[in-house]
Amino acid sequence: MRKEIVLVGAGVSLGLSVAFFGSPLPEAVVGAAASAAQPQDVSPVKARERDVYYPNTEDLAPDEMRVIACGTGMPTTRAAQAAACFLVELGNGDKFLFDIGSGAAERISSLQIPYDYLDKVFIGHLHSDHFGALGELFIGGALMGRQKPLRIWGPSGPTPELGTAYAVQKMTEMYTWDLSGRVGLVDFRGYSIEVDEFDYRAENAVIYEDNGVTIRSFPAIHSLDGPVSFSLEWNGLKFVFGSDTYPNEWFMEYAKDADIVIHECFVAVPDLVTKMRFTPEQALVVGTQVHTAPEAFGKVMQELQPRMAVAYHFFKDFDTTAAVNDRVRTTYDGPLSLAEDFMVWNITKDEIRVRMAIVEEATWAPPLVSAAEPPGGDADRQEFSEKTGVPVDALSYSDFIKGARWGDVDEVLRGVYEEASEVLGREFKYPDDE
Ligand SMILES: [Zn+2]
Ligand SMILES: [Zn+2]
Repeated sequence: MRKEIVLVGAGVSLGLSVAFFGSPLPEAVVGAAASAAQPQDVSPVKARERDVYYPNTEDLAPDEMRVIACGTGMPTTRAAQAAACFLVELGNGDKFLFDIGSGAAERISSLQIPYDYLDKVFIGHLHSDHFGALGELFIGGALMGRQKPLRIWGPSGPTPELGTAYAVQKMTEMYTWDLSGRVGLVDFRGYSIEVDEFDYRAENAVIYEDNGVTIRSFPAIHSLDGPVSFSLEWNGLKFVFGSDTYPNEWFMEYAKDADIVIHECFVAVPDLVTKMRFTPEQALVVGTQVHTAPEAFGKVMQELQPRMAVAYHFFKDFDTTAAVNDRVRTTYDGPLSLAEDFMVWNITKDEIRVRMAIVEEATWAPPLVSAAEPPGGDADRQEFSEKTGVPVDALSYSDFIKGARWGDVDEVLRGVYEEASEVLGREFKYPDDE
């Protein structure tokens, strides 16, 4: 549907997303394509470098930032695109997730990054398409190897009920049965969340500073009071993530001098009517007033002039991308990525390389950073009970349920324990014999 054409000039390569549907190609692109047609190092038996990113096959240089789109879509869910989520990986080893929208947990799992490294999430606002997969990262991430609490940074709201701490507390309470059913049976160290709620009105306030990384928050204008945008600065590189916002003065001020600026860019109004089945009235208000229309996105980027402008938050289909692109290009002529899931930006001071990641889908748990501990048993149940108020007795089967276990499978299951004991050379006691 689209291909990346890499322009190399003056030591800078810009990955331009070029749609196939006939937007005129700049002369430089035509020139680059022509020179690419010259014979190169081609061999019938040798491997060649590919212009795609295969996760976990490339080192991150000490001065390099890698950004991966783990969700670029909308609250209206679809298999083709998860909702908002961007992963930032730094050459110092730090990794940060910005927003964790519905469907993003599957995208993250496809990258096969150890979950202990994915313990820091910054949420720009509390729409489901920006934090709907938090529960899956919380529970599934712990089960797949996160052995420390999940840490969340998010804004306050105009009232306590509209803040991040409230949302996360209620989500955790929603999982009371889930957590009760796991405690004692698994390594439980990853099954807790720490929330750092900061003032949504703070302007360019430092909300995170560690290991040479500074993350700041500034207010956004979207739906209600509460949403924010973020900047991350490290090693002379600056990343900006808008979450959702109407173009605003804070963004124009604090997103200055960024290397990469990710800002929402909504579906064009006519497509909201025909594809999303909005009334014209709703399409106009949602598409231009609640969100940032493509034309307005272009205005923002033309003023900011980032090294790379990233547009996301539209369904990127063969018949909708042209409208977004054409409308952005009425107001902006700089470097542009029309984001889709698994787009990857490698950023250094010299170059921004844009590619697509080729990922695995049928994944299992990625490697563990440190060894897992055996299940915590009654000690964990006791601690969980004190924290949640769920009686310890309710954290295991009642006699009513336990009494109906079908005894005929006992013998075969004992065999599994005996097999494990024999293979691993230590005794695993069958539960009833303990
Ligand atoms: Zn939103
Ligand atoms: Zn949104």
